Amino acid sequence: MQFSYVTLFEGLIASYFEDSILKRAIAKGLLEITFLNPRDYTKNKHGKVDDYQASGGAGLVLFPQPLLDLLRSLKEKSPHAYIIFPTPAGKLFTQNDAKRLAHKEHLVFVSGRYEGIDERVIETFADELFCIGDYVLTGGELPSLVMSDAISRNIKGVLGNEDSLSIESFESPLLEAPCFSKPPLYEDKSVPSEFLKGNHAKITGLKK
Ligand code: SAM
Repeated sequence: MQFSYVTLFEGLIASYFEDSILKRAIAKGLLEITFLNPRDYTKNKHGKVDDYQASGGAGLVLFPQPLLDLLRSLKEKSPHAYIIFPTPAGKLFTQNDAKRLAHKEHLVFVSGRYEGIDERVIETFADELFCIGDYVLTGGELPSLVMSDAISRNIKGVLGNEDSLSIESFESPLLEAPCFSKPPLYEDKSVPSEFLKGNHAKITGLKK
């Protein structure tokens, strides 16, 4: 699976892949990540990517030219690339979306900044629009990472033990049961007896 991130701030995303499970997924060749910066596609002298709103409202918007040129060039090289725009106006991203998108070959996340991205870019290239929750963030980098992390877990081979996927929260109408490590008694808190008897059916019934 390839993840491409269209962002003005590559460093915000790249560091997340430098540790733990996703670092190992890259090392195993299960995941490849690439970055594309709209600034590299500008035609103006100063590498400007934002402009005032046509409506005159407050705040700047990422204007069409750099993003349209970048995405056109990407689609030429990778016609099957599936393009996702994180935006508060999108539908809520869920575990089912993470599972479904884990079957794509190449996902592209286009991060907005400032007041967002000119709607004509979204109309031309969006395969899907996703919101990660009812709050406004400063940019699309965190939403892109949230979605790619959730998707990666569902790519075959990324998790050491794939059984953990089937019993996780959101796989059924209930959440996963709480977890306890050893020892069974720590300070004055003990692990509930059902967990110590290893009765998994009953433990699953203890879901919140
Ligand atoms: N003016 C926009 C609005 O009111 O809906 C908010 C723009 S926000 C400051 C800048 C960028 O952050 C957006 O273009 C989007 O890429 C990203 N973003 C912010 N909150 C988000 C959320 N809850 N879900 C997905 N993306 C979000």
